[in-house]
Amino acid sequence: MARLATIERTRNLGIMAHIDAGKTTTTERILYDAGATDRLGEVHEGSTVTDWMPEEQQRGISITAASTTFSWRDYQCNLVDTPGHVDFTVEVERSMRVLDGAVIVFCAVRGVESQSETVWRQADRYAVPRIAFINKLDREGADPGAVTSEMRQRLNANPIVLQIPMTVADDEGFLEFSGLVDLIRQRARVWDDFAPGARFRDTAVPAELSDEAALARSELVETIAEVDDELMAKFLADADISASDIVAALRRATIALKAVPVLLGSALVNKGVHDLLDAIVDYLPSPADRGPVTGVSPDGKSARREVNDDQPTSAIAFKIMNDPQVGPLTYLRVYSGVVRSSDQLLNATKDKLEKVGRLVRMHANRRSEVKEIAAGDIGAAIGLRTATTGDTLCDPAAPILLDTLRFPEPVIGVSVEPATAEEHERLMRALDALAVEDPTFRVSTDPESNGTIISGMGELHIEILMDRLAREFQVQARMGRPQVAYRETVTARAEVDRKLVREVGGRGQYGHVQIAVEPGERGSGLVVASKAPADDVPKEFIPAIRAGIQEAAERGVLAGFPMVDAVVTLLGGSHHQVDSSDAIFKVAAFQAFREAALNAVPIVLEPVMSIEVVCPVDDVGDVIGDLSARRGKITGIETRSGVQVVAGQVPLASMFGYATDLRSRTQGRATYSMQFLHYAEMPTSISDGLVAQR
Ligand code: GDP
Repeated sequence: MARLATIERTRNLGIMAHIDAGKTTTTERILYDAGATDRLGEVHEGSTVTDWMPEEQQRGISITAASTTFSWRDYQCNLVDTPGHVDFTVEVERSMRVLDGAVIVFCAVRGVESQSETVWRQADRYAVPRIAFINKLDREGADPGAVTSEMRQRLNANPIVLQIPMTVADDEGFLEFSGLVDLIRQRARVWDDFAPGARFRDTAVPAELSDEAALARSELVETIAEVDDELMAKFLADADISASDIVAALRRATIALKAVPVLLGSALVNKGVHDLLDAIVDYLPSPADRGPVTGVSPDGKSARREVNDDQPTSAIAFKIMNDPQVGPLTYLRVYSGVVRSSDQLLNATKDKLEKVGRLVRMHANRRSEVKEIAAGDIGAAIGLRTATTGDTLCDPAAPILLDTLRFPEPVIGVSVEPATAEEHERLMRALDALAVEDPTFRVSTDPESNGTIISGMGELHIEILMDRLAREFQVQARMGRPQVAYRETVTARAEVDRKLVREVGGRGQYGHVQIAVEPGERGSGLVVASKAPADDVPKEFIPAIRAGIQEAAERGVLAGFPMVDAVVTLLGGSHHQVDSSDAIFKVAAFQAFREAALNAVPIVLEPVMSIEVVCPVDDVGDVIGDLSARRGKITGIETRSGVQVVAGQVPLASMFGYATDLRSRTQGRATYSMQFLHYAEMPTSISDGLVAQR
């Protein structure tokens, strides 16, 4: 049997955090304490288990979403690794789709930071139940109470703190974090400093904390009762409330997204991680708790699958990794049915049949081959040919296209060329392989220079991909200056009637279209629809007309940027029995679109980023002045744990090199994080310059 545990005893979870909050260290300790690894990896040694790729070890950040299996009590946990850096929010989103629950790590000193807020909102969007781990309790200035009140205010969360920290005075009289009082069980746990994490003692709550602990427990029961009717009934009946009553109620409240259990600890010294592991299995949902998965069947009707082995198979490919030993490794989250090695599956996204080769399960430090991956479980397949990230794989006899992942469009592009002409072919192959893995990374050809352009979500994203190019594919490439991915759109409605009647080589050519172009919703892309009566424009020409419109839109009309957020409607036209062809309709549509778009008051759109700069109070004026000079808008300034946080929105175009600039401006005292927010109209005073350059 491939199942290590029943569906009810399976947990698919991710760990998310602001960079530096301790996600990597916490992951390490979890795998160690659960017995999956036999030594503690330290980030600074570059030896962590989940961070596979050399450049991650170098940078100390994880950027992939490998899934690692470990056991705790009688449960099987699949830990989906999620990245910590905002340039890779898409990776967080993609893992969010396949997780059932999450642990969000906060730093006890720095509290709710911008990226923790970002991942929190993503988890909200995907309705992912979560628990919080307030880490670094050993650090001076640790203030878990401040973190939970920030969670309430900034994240609108209902944190339920399950422990109170214990301290001992060290040789110099400083208070050191030593253990935790478990409020639910009214028990103290103290760790042995000489064998980190491996040894602890459970004792009665020390006398000096017993009043506080008893009071905190009754408050905890009341807070949970407020969001759980069953516990409320017991509470009102004055019945004895046992530890298992509380755990059951808090589990229900967590899964219903009405409460967030909060655990405390220090990953570095491995205190509190056992309790975190208990909380993962006690409070986070099983795949069955998340309910049936939904999608559409081929006839366009909505369809669903219950989470069990007897249903027709459905799965999502959520990550493709190029494994040097076995080739592409496709990570699958199975929702229903069972995927078996040598099964034939339908890739419903691409409408192609796929043959599953071998199946593997990844453990912290090894790979094991399995015969099947059952409903609710995660594993990887070797040998899939067509699947790319986000694709649905299913039983060919019961097709379903599962509701899929959303990926933002890349916001910067840069030209690349091989170091030598001979390397051109290898460069293109390597870029294609990277693009298959990462849907926010695109490869295209510059229509003017014919050169290769790669696009991604930020400077760091591109930098890391270039590193991988050199390291994994041994291709050296030269990079141009990063360019902002501008867009064009229209701000008014315009109609154009274009009839082409020509004679080419003695044969007549006839194409006639009437189209309207008007503004669409922001983020909707280009929508092309046809209302033309089939008698006027026969159906067979519609694909050619579409292609003509899309080709014209791709080149834009103002400054050569792709046109987005516009609705194009084919209103009508006419055809000729003999002289009409795909080719002439395509040209007519191309010309009609260009003219209509030019008449529809086109403008240039630019990507706007949200930014958060954390700096000492003395630097605030300088930081704000500089952001304003970069056309930024300040949206808020607040004090957080003794430092100032400046939040704002800035056009990406004025942010190149900001990291270096900010460092020298503040002597390295400030940090910032930035992510794509939306596209917005560019002031014409600036876009005129871009238009003139063309
Ligand atoms: P990530 O960026 O969220 O993955 O964070 P890391 O796990 O790489 O940790 C960032 C830094 O904080 C590293 O230098 C860790 O050694 C340190 N760190 C992690 N957990 C703790 C902790 O509990 N206490 C202290 N004092 N430092 C910690």
